[in-house]
Amino acid sequence: MPAKNDSEKCCYCGGCVGVCPAGAITLEETRIVIDESKCINCGACVKICPVGAMKLEKE
Ligand code: SF4
Ligand code: SF4
Repeated sequence: MPAKNDSEKCCYCGGCVGVCPAGAITLEETRIVIDESKCINCGACVKICPVGAMKLEKE
């Protein structure tokens, strides 16, 4: 399952966008968009997020 963003926690710092090796994350004005077809479940966005707003869903 691809990564998921919790918009309640996310402060839109953009950290996850830069760290994603698959280029799956886009920061729109007040929204993080994850391209589920690109996400390779590496967990880099989960690790870098300062507020714990990224999660990898378990299958
Ligand atoms: S889990 Fe990895 S590939 Fe998927 S969105 Fe996060 S950084 Fe990108
Ligand atoms: S690193 Fe976390 S707080 Fe920053 S934009 Fe990504 S999900 Fe939001």
